[in-house]
Amino acid sequence: MTAEKTCHDETEIDAKRAAYLQDVATYAPSKLTAFKRAYAGSSLRAAINAQCLDCMQCDVAAIRTCTAPCCPLFEVRPYQKSDRNSSEV
Ligand code: SF4
Repeated sequence: MTAEKTCHDETEIDAKRAAYLQDVATYAPSKLTAFKRAYAGSSLRAAINAQCLDCMQCDVAAIRTCTAPCCPLFEVRPYQKSDRNSSEV
């Protein structure tokens, strides 16, 4: 059994998040607030929104038409046409 690499060091987490936010600011600046909200850690909705954005490289249309119904977030993903679980992110 190999040791699994973990990410529990706060300094390492902050550095990784800062680098990630820089990438978002560069490639999808309109989604930067969504990731900042998620990293604040006070909203499950924000975390779900950011996870789907990450999954689909911030492509809103791809999230809307996600083809992974087995994903645990599928039913609550943002940008669904019914808008029942969505919020602007
Ligand atoms: S619901 Fe779809 S877009 Fe969201 S994380 Fe799952 S696979 Fe990715």
